[in-house]
Amino acid sequence: MKYDIHCHLTGYTYCDAKSIIKECEKKKISLIINGLNVLDNLKVLKLSKLSSNIHASIGMHPTDMFDSGFISQVIKNKNSIVSIGEVGLDYKERIDNSQRIIFKKIINLANKINKPLIVHSRNAEKEVLEDLKSSKVPIILHCFSGKRSLIHEALANPLIYFSIPASCEYSEQFQELIKLVSIEKLFCETDSPYLWKYELNTPLNISHSYEMIAKLKSLKLKDCEQIIENNVNKVFKITEFKNN
Ligand SMILES: [Zn+2]
Repeated sequence: MKYDIHCHLTGYTYCDAKSIIKECEKKKISLIINGLNVLDNLKVLKLSKLSSNIHASIGMHPTDMFDSGFISQVIKNKNSIVSIGEVGLDYKERIDNSQRIIFKKIINLANKINKPLIVHSRNAEKEVLEDLKSSKVPIILHCFSGKRSLIHEALANPLIYFSIPASCEYSEQFQELIKLVSIEKLFCETDSPYLWKYELNTPLNISHSYEMIAKLKSLKLKDCEQIIENNVNKVFKITEFKNN
């Protein structure tokens, strides 16, 4: 089984999302759909009920207006979600202290309900790593584009993992990240429908991440898939989750 641990199926029409889910079932691709705000999270929870291969992660994107209802939404749905995300810091357009206050609140929440965090960071990698020191749960840095010294700093925290986007097919920066990080610390993602320079991105592109990791780690594709499946089970406890 392949896993796309970070995609946004709510970026398509409901009908298209349903047909993508069907196609993923056929191709043995399991998804963790990430929510961006309280309303988006409701759609994620609804989509996650369509198939046992689809899991929900609910979040509050740093570029969205913070909604205090988010905290109670997470607590209410804690048995239906595998992680909290997408959350994080984004200083590309706006640098203000409120983002950090909210991020710290969300880290505390993850500690309290013992769910991993899927974290976005843009132009704020240093601050993200600083704040994550208080996390007691596994952290997945999605599309991490910090420089080499920050990757090493992140690796010093044993709870930190990285997810590699399908765009690693053409992005040297992500190829470098694969080389620097042990495969036991890697996941694959598409961030679809975003982050793709060709046609519309969908989770079906996840094979690009797997192929590049297998190539750069000199592994057979099926061994690469097995190791990453082990990482998914360890961090997201998906097998236990299905039995609940
Ligand atoms: Zn995303």
